[in-house]
Amino acid sequence: MANQNRLEQDIETLRNISDPCDGGVTRIGLTPRYRQGVNYIKAQMQAVGLTIREDEVGNVYGIMQGTHPTLPSIISGSHLDTVKNAGAFDGIAGVVCALEVARMLKEQNIQLKHNYEVVAFVEEEGTHFGTVLLGSRYITGELNEVDKDRLRNDEGQTLRQILQQYSTGVTTISAKRDPQTIKAFLELHDEQGPVLEATKTDIGIVDNIVAIGQLVITITGFAGHAGTVPMTMRQDAGIAGCQFVSHLNQYTLRKYAEQATLTVGKFSLSPNSANTIPNQCTFTLDIRSGDEKIVHNIIKHVSSLALIINDEFNVVCEVKQVSFKDPVVMDSGLRQLLQATAEDLGLSVRHLNSGAGHDAMIMSGICPTAMIFIPCYKGITHHPDENVTWQDMAKGTDVLFNTIIQLDKK
Ligand SMILES: [Zn+2]
Repeated sequence: MANQNRLEQDIETLRNISDPCDGGVTRIGLTPRYRQGVNYIKAQMQAVGLTIREDEVGNVYGIMQGTHPTLPSIISGSHLDTVKNAGAFDGIAGVVCALEVARMLKEQNIQLKHNYEVVAFVEEEGTHFGTVLLGSRYITGELNEVDKDRLRNDEGQTLRQILQQYSTGVTTISAKRDPQTIKAFLELHDEQGPVLEATKTDIGIVDNIVAIGQLVITITGFAGHAGTVPMTMRQDAGIAGCQFVSHLNQYTLRKYAEQATLTVGKFSLSPNSANTIPNQCTFTLDIRSGDEKIVHNIIKHVSSLALIINDEFNVVCEVKQVSFKDPVVMDSGLRQLLQATAEDLGLSVRHLNSGAGHDAMIMSGICPTAMIFIPCYKGITHHPDENVTWQDMAKGTDVLFNTIIQLDKK
């Protein structure tokens, strides 16, 4: 069994390695404070006897050598960086639980055939350089040497300049991994949503990281005096926009309540004046689902809804698709193995999709990848109140531990 005291000790120590903020944790990738967090994790890795490697962009590995070191590695971990004023678990829990697995292996004198690598990815949140999943994207080769001069922080310093400061005195290896060197990647993460807690489920197994469609809708009407233009003679872009959103929300709830999410995160009116009929309404749509067909269906419905709104309100709706990201499917063999392992431990399991992006999404491009979700309090995340119980962390670690042992035999 995973040791809850050790999990607590790691999380609480890292919680306190923070730049000053409003009650949460601020440890932004590649800052001096981040280096302090990395030094703590490295010390813990060293204490278990792991061989430490740090790569050119700040990803850190702790390697437990297997009896057949030429076999590809089993890797587990997550990110060690945070957003500003974050909780103590997002990302960190996955690093700490993977480290605990190494301690358990050592404690129980278990020698794996494969190398087992604990990884701490850097700058997943993209808070420093505005590019999310930076560490893992260097590992897969999606980002490269050129990007070190292209990416700049808010002070105008390039990634290359920051890395020079950050890595002073540290021996680094190149970031890009040969896919042949990886057997599997497993990431444990808190759910960052309320489902596991609400359904009293121990373990979530991620099927997909969702497809995301992002659209901007601009509705053009005609401005007029709030008092003089009769209701029946208006081209009110504001009311048209409200109706549009309300219809689309009802449609999504009715057809896909369990399978998709729709978010209108921005909504603005022009000229935005209390006594003027709005001549323009602009809003964003963020549509997500584990099934990309559903995202396409909702986008199709947006287009037909635009025509209905045009007629009804005598306005012109412009529908612009800003981006579309395909879903990322987690490895089915690993998912089955996770499920069987969790059930053997007597834990309850639920399959779900991840509405947020994770390093696992990137790693799945080069190796078989799966994710374990553990419950978090009310789904609160990116907030000081984010909380995961030590018991739930231990359960997740036990699943990870047993899965790695099974995987090693294959
Ligand atoms: Zn995260």
